[in-house]
Amino acid sequence: MPDKGQARLDNPVTKYPQVSPPKQDQPEPGLDAKLEPRADHGEETYRGSGRLAGRKALITGGDSGIGAAVAIAYAREGADVAIAYLPAEEEDARRVLSQIEAAGRTAVGLPGDLLDLEYRGRLVDDAAEALCGLDILVNNAGKQVFAERLEDLDDEQVETTFQVNILAMFTLSRAALRHLPEGASIINTTSIQAYQPSAHLLDYATTKAAINAFTKGLAEQLGPRGIRVNAVAPGPVWTPLQVSDGQPKDRLPTFGQNVPLGRAGQPAELAAPYVFLATDEAGYVLGETLNVNGGKPSP
Ligand code: NAD
Ligand code: MG
Repeated sequence: MPDKGQARLDNPVTKYPQVSPPKQDQPEPGLDAKLEPRADHGEETYRGSGRLAGRKALITGGDSGIGAAVAIAYAREGADVAIAYLPAEEEDARRVLSQIEAAGRTAVGLPGDLLDLEYRGRLVDDAAEALCGLDILVNNAGKQVFAERLEDLDDEQVETTFQVNILAMFTLSRAALRHLPEGASIINTTSIQAYQPSAHLLDYATTKAAINAFTKGLAEQLGPRGIRVNAVAPGPVWTPLQVSDGQPKDRLPTFGQNVPLGRAGQPAELAAPYVFLATDEAGYVLGETLNVNGGKPSP
């Protein structure tokens, strides 16, 4: 007999309120601890079911925003988790590390700057040593600083954006191959900016298009070796990236309201796609970009 009741469903339009932030400005890197309104990383809501039991993950930029939500979800799914972050983000990192520990998993903090080539070169080995292995790499760290005019975008910014967003992915993914067993996953954070570049995010959007090509090409290369490479492409998500010069201040009050759901996403809404791509159930999924963007058409 079918159940006569109606299951309780979330309406995605009203699940979270529109983000109408008060005026705020943080230096780069922004902190979740100072973000207003606070973002949801699934602290109160994400329920695991052992989908990543015994797995070992390194998440760059795992201190805040999307990376923090992924770290909490991975731990609750049974994975040991190392997070990489900038030393200035220690306060955010501590909160995420304590969430991982509260889930009963090993939590490893690896502070450093991906612009420091020595740190970049040893990060993956350090994570694998601390976790006694590695089978998930989430390349999620990102730099986004708006510039309205090309004349305001100097070569130094272009270069650092490329270093953090895409060049580090080559180094970290290459290093991961020393550790990743068959069945392992690399998951890269790209963006809707890869296909719909904003005029004021030229350098950033260009790196995200590069990440898409990197993801698909590397997936073809590593597929035969049993390692899957995929990407997640978020739309507008309420994170400290946006208030630390990621967007012009006059755009923040309506941030994310131009998508079909009419609101910005919360980091917690990104976690499940990253979980899915890492699981064995996604074993036939590679070279894919999962768009999580509130309904904007994407290729
Ligand atoms: P976030 O600020 O919380 O995370 C970005 C992280 O990148 C920081 O926490 C920091 O640890 C790391 N990072 C930046 N520069 C670094 C450096 N030099 N060395 C080491 N780490 C560095 O913001 P987020 O929005 O959660 O960003 C995570 C990813 O999501 C980024 O790749 C971003 O491009 C992408 N993304 C975000 C949105 C959005 O709307 N928030 C949309 C699409 C894509
Ligand atoms: Mg951060």
